[in-house]
This record gives sequence, structure tokens and C-alpha cells, in this order.
Amino acid sequence: MCMLQVDVLDVLIVGAGPTGLALATQLHRFGVRIRLIDRLRDRARESRALAVQARSLELLQMVQLGEPLAARGLATAGLITRFHLHHRQTAHYRKGRVFLAGDAAHIHSPVGGRGMNTGIQDAWNLGWKLALVARGSADPRLLDSYEAERWPVGRFLLRYTDRAFRTFTGAISNRPLAAWTRRVVAPRVLPHIVASPRLRRALFAFVSELAVRYRRSAAVVEGEPRQVGGPRAGDRLPDAHLLRHGRAVWPHEAITGPHISLLLCGDPRMWDGRRLTQLGERYRDVVRIYGVSKGASDASPVTMRVDSLVDDHGEGFARLGVQGATQYLVRPDGYVGFRCSGHRFDSLERYLETWFARGNKF
Ligand SMILES: Cc1cc2nc3c(=O)[nH]c(=O)nc-3n(C[C@H](O)[C@H](O)[C@H](O)COP(=O)(O)OP(=O)(O)OC[C@H]3O[C@@H](n4cnc5c(N)ncnc54)[C@H](O)[C@@H]3O)c2cc1C
Repeated sequence: MCMLQVDVLDVLIVGAGPTGLALATQLHRFGVRIRLIDRLRDRARESRALAVQARSLELLQMVQLGEPLAARGLATAGLITRFHLHHRQTAHYRKGRVFLAGDAAHIHSPVGGRGMNTGIQDAWNLGWKLALVARGSADPRLLDSYEAERWPVGRFLLRYTDRAFRTFTGAISNRPLAAWTRRVVAPRVLPHIVASPRLRRALFAFVSELAVRYRRSAAVVEGEPRQVGGPRAGDRLPDAHLLRHGRAVWPHEAITGPHISLLLCGDPRMWDGRRLTQLGERYRDVVRIYGVSKGASDASPVTMRVDSLVDDHGEGFARLGVQGATQYLVRPDGYVGFRCSGHRFDSLERYLETWFARGNKF
């Protein structure tokens, strides 16, 4: 199967399953020259993913596919009753110019409905890095952060599905202990779990995969002066109701695109417009700047074009921990790559210079 006929390729994707398709989508958005091949001549007829997690829907919504999928996918899903149980993960996700993602990198029991979801998220993590490096807009070391960030997620998944599978098969067995647990323990414990908002929140964050974070990655930085409160570098940007041109938007839909988003939160009159213009010019291929303010009437003194987002309910500032001025750099996969407080751009510029200076060669 061939999606694009091109003479020169930047990336060859082997396998047109959910992972390969998600990667192709990401790379295509960045204008990267790709070819997607599969050993099968036609698409698979059966669905192997009944559960699409919230984080995957969020990613698909970035390319306007979330709602159509939610409307269609579950209705057409077929039930598969026989499958082979595999449990393994590759020691590395990268060898030179070859990257592994999805089931090629980690495979486990379907319990918990995580395989496809994790594959799509691998692809989203890798896609923008590959694209920027292929374009010469990012330091090639950025590609090392793919394995550093996604390998631990795959390892955790293997452990979780292994335990969940054993619990599940144990619970449905005919052994006396299993029968007693079903009859006596479960009816007493489950109502407490369902009734506790805290447990429900924790369970949702875990199952939805919205709580996955990369705080230990070398590619994310807590800048100076330190920001207190809000998502840390390596965390997923939280959602909140915001306004753009008077229309309600969600940050993940409004700002994520084939670029890194610089969110300047706080009074727009306080930013140094001249410095910001220079910054925007220097990184114009990579960075798009957004001003996030409390009121629609706040005027921006910045001479260059800055997209404005308005937090009229205060929900955005509360979730981002904004007290005075705060800078968030949000990656194309919706994660915070850098953050700091205050109006000075020194720390931000050091981060951008390290990872996104132009003229990088791969
Ligand atoms: C019964 C069952 C239920 C499941 N339910 C869920 C669920 O609810 N939620 C969930 O998230 N996951 C679920 N999964 C897991 C999910 O189906 C997989 O994790 C997902 O399909 C992996 O996607 P992938 O693109 O990485 O790999 P695949 O879907 O396996 O796609 C790989 C593609 O690569 C092609 N290929 C392989 N080798 C080559 C080669 N050498 N050259 C060219 N092409 C090649 C194959 O033909 C295939 O098209 C379920 C799995 C099963 C078995």
C-alpha cells in the first residue's frame, strides 16, 4: 500500500496498522516526505480495539478525527474471541535511523484495551521529533528522548496488563477462592471504589492515559525563575475552557499543530514586545506564540502577530498555576517541554537554542 508517491523520502513507515497510520498523519502535517508500506494488500476487516482511551481521542481530535471515530468506531467493532497471548518488549526503541513503535516495540494481553492506544501515543511522541529533525529544525539528540520517554510507558503497560490478565482469569475461574471473592468481597469493595471521587479520579487518570508524564526526560526543562504550581515540564498540558476570537476552544485543539506553542500567560502589556519579535523571527519555523490573558479587553503591545486566548472563567490560569507571569512551551504532542515564571526570556532562549536552533544536520 502506498500513500504518497515521492522520489525522495524522509521517512519510510513499515506497517499500516494504527501506529503506522498515526505516525503518517503526524509527519504529513509537518510536510515530511513519507511512504507507508504494508505487507497486506488490503486493510484489515476486523476491529481489534474496542476501547479507545481519552488521551488517544484527544490526539485524534487534534487532526479532527476524534469525533468521527467515536461516532463510528465502536459501532463497527467486531468481537474476537481467540487470540494468542504475547508478552514482550524490545530492549531498545531505536537503533540508528530505525525506530520501533506500537506492537513492534511492546506486545501484551488485550486486557485493559491499551495496545492500540499506546501505539498511537508512541507515534505521536515520535512523529513531531522525526519531522523537526528531518527538516533540520531540531537537534538530532531530540530523537533519543523518544525511547527515554516511551520505553518506561511500555514497561509499565506490560506489568499492568500481565497482572490484570492474571487477576481477570483468576476471577472468572471456578476455584473456591475466586468464587468467594466474587460472591463476598467484590460486592463490598466495589461500591466504595465507585463512590469515592478521589479513587474515581485516580482510576480515570490511569485508564484514560491522561496521567502519563515524562518529567525525567532530558528534553524537558524547568526554567528559571521556577514556576510553582501548574503542570511541570514533562506533564501533559491540562485542558480548560478558553476563548479565541470570542469562540470557546480547548487548548489541545486550539494550539497544538505542526509547531511548538509558546504560551505567555498574564498581563499582555508586561511582555517585552521587541524581544518577543526577535524570538518569534528566530524560531518562526518552529514556534508559534500565544498570549493568554484574563480579559478580552487586554490589549497586546506586541508589534508582531501573537494569537490571543482569553481565560474569562479563570479556569485556565488556575490549572496552569498562573499567579503573575508564566511561560509554557507546549510540544506538538501536547506536553510541556519548558516552563518558567516571570517576563524574562533568557531561560527560554537557552532551551530553544539547545534543542531548536536552525541548521541542525541529521
Ligand atoms: C482481541 C484483541 C482485542 C484488542 N482490543 C484492544 C482495545 O480495545 N484497545 C486497544 O488499545 N488495543 C486493543 N488490542 C491491541 C491492538 O489491536 C494492537 O495493539 C494494535 O493493533 C497495534 O497496532 P500496530 O499498528 O502497532 O500493529 P498492528 O495492528 O499489528 O499493525 C502492524 C501492521 O504492519 C504490517 N506488517 C507487519 N510486518 C510487516 C513487514 N515486515 N512488512 C510490511 N508490513 C508489515 C501488518 O500487516 C500490519 O498491518 C486488542 C488486540 C486483540 C488481539
